[in-house]
Amino acid sequence: MKCPACHNELSQLQVGSLIVDVCDGGCAGVWFDAFELQRVDEQEEEAGERLIEFRCDPRIVVDASRKRDCPRCPGIKLHRHFFSARRRVEVDECPNCGGYWLDAGELAAIRAEKKAEQLTHDQARNATLSSKTIRFLYEAQTQARNRPQSGPTANL
Ligand SMILES: [Zn+2]
Ligand SMILES: [Zn+2]
Repeated sequence: MKCPACHNELSQLQVGSLIVDVCDGGCAGVWFDAFELQRVDEQEEEAGERLIEFRCDPRIVVDASRKRDCPRCPGIKLHRHFFSARRRVEVDECPNCGGYWLDAGELAAIRAEKKAEQLTHDQARNATLSSKTIRFLYEAQTQARNRPQSGPTANL
């Protein structure tokens, strides 16, 4: 398979249980067949980090505005669109086979975006936890105030 961005020959890389096609030594882009990208997202951190780190030839300048051909489907152009509703990372998707092409750095950006989302979720959970804690403390205080006095003074 040829790289849709720089026409280098793609090489296969095993990431966990799946095999993706990478432009190793070329523009360092990655091709994911349909649903592979979602599976990479679900892999443990380590597998994903490996994908981000291959060699990139600094002499290759990728023109992201150029229409690219799907490496799988002859004559089909990839459609460039935003990966998520946050509209930060753009990816190329094949309307025919559903595969994705990610330029170098785009996978890292998607993962960073996912991590940011995860962080927001965690913060939200912490906020819920702290308001619960506040309520618990408040109730504990109220109960302490309403509890009948004990000790020597109560026995009078
Ligand atoms: Zn390439
Ligand atoms: Zn295709």
